[in-house]
Amino acid sequence: MGKIILTGDRPTGRLHVGHYVGSLRRRVELQNSGEYDKTFIMIADAQALTDNIENPEKVRQNIVEVALDYLSCGLDPAKSTLFIQSQIPELCELTFYYMDLVTVARLQRNPTVKSEIQMRNFEASIPVGFFTYPISQAADITAFKATTVPVGEDQLPMIEQTREIVRKFNSVYSEVLVEPEVLLPENQACMRLPGIDGKAKMSKSLGNCIYLSDTADEVKKKIMSMYTDPTHIQVSDPGHIEGNTVFTYLDAFCRPEHFERYLPDYACLDELKAHYQRGGLGDVKVKRFLNSVLEETLEPIRARRKEFEKDIPEVYQILKKGSEAAREVAAQTLSEVKDAMKINYFSDAELIRAQAEKYSRSE
Ligand code: ATP
Ligand code: MG
Repeated sequence: MGKIILTGDRPTGRLHVGHYVGSLRRRVELQNSGEYDKTFIMIADAQALTDNIENPEKVRQNIVEVALDYLSCGLDPAKSTLFIQSQIPELCELTFYYMDLVTVARLQRNPTVKSEIQMRNFEASIPVGFFTYPISQAADITAFKATTVPVGEDQLPMIEQTREIVRKFNSVYSEVLVEPEVLLPENQACMRLPGIDGKAKMSKSLGNCIYLSDTADEVKKKIMSMYTDPTHIQVSDPGHIEGNTVFTYLDAFCRPEHFERYLPDYACLDELKAHYQRGGLGDVKVKRFLNSVLEETLEPIRARRKEFEKDIPEVYQILKKGSEAAREVAAQTLSEVKDAMKINYFSDAELIRAQAEKYSRSE
């Protein structure tokens, strides 16, 4: 059995640097590593609709934005299948059958869904579709028999739920589905990049993002306004690193060679942190450094985006082709699932023959 990647994003906004360090950067590396037989990247519009019922236009508009972000980061349609979730009806069918394998109590225990319900003030009126999205995510992953799912930390409970569904399905019916492994980012900062306001997670829905498509000016302004250490008032004051967003972003983006290029007085990030903690290092200097480091990543992405923006019909064409290819794979898995569940009446000649024989005997 080959190694297969599936991952994706909700088209609820343009992609941000949290997506980049949490999943996108890794996807591009994996895509180019040659170690995987197939890479499927999904724009999860059906999932986005579960908590944007009143705003279908937002989801519709952001399909192409997310696709442009993908292409500009280096996802290559010649190597990865880029597709749109809602265009694969087989995913709905799989979701419907998997619902039989999960209890309401199990869904209620999902910590990510719990906090998302709170964040959206859904407590009293959770849409069933939103509540059950971890099951539909299991359908997305298993439809492609994904072995590897590169995602941020908030997705861990979804992958665990998927693994449980796979185990249950395979033990009740037969060994059709593949249990996926999660691939988390390399360090804590990348697992859950905080927003520029210092809030727990940079998230499109919270408006605390640096977008991959922000201009250099916008990025600089956002960095200069970033939450740091409220007790670090004078440059000479000793500062704190923990919970200091600027240092968290450096943990996520900074490499040793950045010091040679932009801040040669320091050999590495640990030295910079030590100076900040001792006192005598101002926020502005650290923020300027972060800006140079981020620009080094964002500038080429921005330039590639400009190129892809020139041919939007081609971007839709890429998604259409990808969706057609993805659909074939999902249809094959669904057919195996239906065989295993014994709901393949018309293609099972043996069933029809045996029933006919039963009735011919009773005549
Ligand atoms: P929404 O607010 O609509 O849920 P989002 O910003 O959380 O949007 P998603 O589309 O839900 O983005 O997530 C896509 C992928 O990016 C997932 O793998 C998720 O783990 C990862 N991700 C999202 N935000 C972050 C973050 N701040 N840090 C690291 N990874 C992240
Ligand atoms: Mg999310």
